[in-house]
Amino acid sequence: MFSNVPIAKTDTLSRKAILKLTSKATNSLSEFKFEESLTTARLVLRYAIDRKDDYLVAKSYNMIAANFEAMSEVDKAAFYYKKGLAYADRTTNDSIKSSLNNNIGNIYCFELNNLDEGVDYYKKALEYSTKINDSSSIYITKMNIAWAYFYKGNFEKGKPYLDFINKHHSNFGGKSTVVTLKMLNGMFFTNQLEFDKAELFFKNAIKLGQGVSEKSDLSYAHQEYAKLLMKKGDYKNAYENLLLYNSIRKSIEDSNKVKRANIVGVNLELDEYKRKVDTIENEISLQDISLQKSRIIVVLFIIALTVVLLLLYNVYKNNNFKKKKNAELIIANEKLVIAKEKAEEASYLKSQFVSTISHELRTPLYGVVGITNMLLDEHKELADSPYLSSLKFSARYLLSLVNDVLQINKIEENRIVLESLTFNMVDEINMIKNSLSFIAKSHENHINISIDPSIPEYLIGDKLRFSQIIINMVSNALKFTNNGEVNIKADLVKIENKAHFIEFNIQDNGVGIAEEDQEKIFEKFVQIGRKEIDYQGTGLGLSIVKRLLELFDSTISLKSKIGHGTTFTFTIAFDYDPIKTTELINKIQVDLTSNEIFNVLVVDDNKINQLITRKIIEKNNYKCSVVDSGMAALEIVDTAKFDVILMDINMPLMNGFETTKRLRQKGVMTPVIALTAFDKDEIVEEALSAGINDIIIKPFEPALLFKMINQLLYKENQTELV
Ligand code: ADP
Repeated sequence: MFSNVPIAKTDTLSRKAILKLTSKATNSLSEFKFEESLTTARLVLRYAIDRKDDYLVAKSYNMIAANFEAMSEVDKAAFYYKKGLAYADRTTNDSIKSSLNNNIGNIYCFELNNLDEGVDYYKKALEYSTKINDSSSIYITKMNIAWAYFYKGNFEKGKPYLDFINKHHSNFGGKSTVVTLKMLNGMFFTNQLEFDKAELFFKNAIKLGQGVSEKSDLSYAHQEYAKLLMKKGDYKNAYENLLLYNSIRKSIEDSNKVKRANIVGVNLELDEYKRKVDTIENEISLQDISLQKSRIIVVLFIIALTVVLLLLYNVYKNNNFKKKKNAELIIANEKLVIAKEKAEEASYLKSQFVSTISHELRTPLYGVVGITNMLLDEHKELADSPYLSSLKFSARYLLSLVNDVLQINKIEENRIVLESLTFNMVDEINMIKNSLSFIAKSHENHINISIDPSIPEYLIGDKLRFSQIIINMVSNALKFTNNGEVNIKADLVKIENKAHFIEFNIQDNGVGIAEEDQEKIFEKFVQIGRKEIDYQGTGLGLSIVKRLLELFDSTISLKSKIGHGTTFTFTIAFDYDPIKTTELINKIQVDLTSNEIFNVLVVDDNKINQLITRKIIEKNNYKCSVVDSGMAALEIVDTAKFDVILMDINMPLMNGFETTKRLRQKGVMTPVIALTAFDKDEIVEEALSAGINDIIIKPFEPALLFKMINQLLYKENQTELV
């Protein structure tokens, strides 16, 4: 068989030096200087491993294995060839791969007698050498394959390989292969039973083999020739050839022994060296592992770094985004603030406007209503005049519209805060019944009151707003019922500490409200089926009721059927404090219905108002003096004595507050009642600080004024009960 000696490659200088050493080892081997060859190969291996050069490692193992093969140390040779192949496979060098596969094929076919595996290696070798077009390697491998097949007796498979080597021998065969070539032909023809031809080839092989120093091929030629002679029945010559085969093998074996003995030292060294190689390999694999580990660490680090960078980028982007958004928000906020300010300003202006207009309207309306009343009083014959009653009705309508608008404006601006006064609920409801008796009569209705006896007589709450709610509800019930019944029902439903929850039902059997209108009626200015001639409402009543009830933390519900009437229900929690109530009741010993004739001074710049107020006062048999300015008031008190002063607030030059202040400064302590078109809440503070004792809103119920006068003049017994 034939071994491939790979052709050295030239790269860098140091690599060149190593390759030079490899050539030196190859030369030593060809001269059978195994010790020298192995030592050099060992050096190459050392350098190669240090350089981590897989090609050079493979090459040095190839060399070491070739040495062992030459020394017939088959196992060691196979071991090192395979090691070499493992390194060679890591490279892209097909030449070394071809060489090692071929050499392993040799070992398997001719030493280990494992022809199948051996041929597989050969074919691999052939693949690589064909790839790089290495003709001499192709030639040698094909020769080996032919030999292996023939050796196995498979001449058919081996024939194409024999044909190839016969054809290309002159080009690629060379001297070293000629003996084998002849022998293989001998073997083939023997099998073909062309003994003469075969004999010629064997004799030629033997003759040529005798001329070369390497006698191994010659020995095989004798062996194969012997086989032919046997077949021919020439046993004598066959025997002689076998003897020759044996003697040549023996001498080869002997010389190998000597050589082996010579390299015991090297062998030992090699064993030692093998250990070193193992250690180095271990190191390498450890390095590989640690390299792999560090690779993993590097990869993890890169991943972590990427994640961190991505996060940073994200944070940066977010920050930018936030900054942008913040800037946008700041601008939006500024715009909002401006818009809010504008809206507030607009709303303030609106409420100012509504409030001013309402006041301005109230004063002349006071005049219209007052004068109408006066006309009716003084000219009883006009009582039936449709014009006068129309005038009166229109004036009242306008007045209630103005009051309602003012009221709703105040509620919407959250300017109403409920008061806590002690009051008699039954009295209040009865008073409402009385004051509405006119409408009741005109619609021919009857009002029934049913109060749960468990409701305490005196309760604490905002009786003014409560009355307003009941008045609105009852007057609606009366307006939308003809010839019917209106029931005012109050029931105690729950007590929680001081809070007494009273459910009110205002029930009528009037026209009723259609299902689809039942929600609408609480909206502003909604009037269902209003006729043009009917001026009985402003469409604000229920809207005010709903909002007032919200102030009481309550809601309103209704049940109604067209033609059958309507029931409105709501619950208000009033406080009940028996101790406070008892104290108050004990104080109510005042006779408010005094028959005394009081001397009243009216301070008002408006002639019509002067006239109306004077009429009201004189009608009650009180004495009345009138002045039309604050200055005049300050003068008149020096010469006359008054029991009470009715002070208009809106006066030119010196208003009611200023006048009162100066009166007090002069030491005049006469009770002053402010007469104003303003809402009480709006002026109460300034009025008190000016020294005004009470306030009455124009237009007023005369009875209310006289009640107030009486209370003021009996101040020492004055209570909260009004
Ligand atoms: P108005 O000033 O017109 O009474 P409200 O807000 O008080 O305004 O009422 C709105 C509408 O609801 C009324 O116009 C009427 O159509 C209806 N309504 C209110 N109460 C009753 C009732 N008791 N019976 C029938 N309809 C009613």
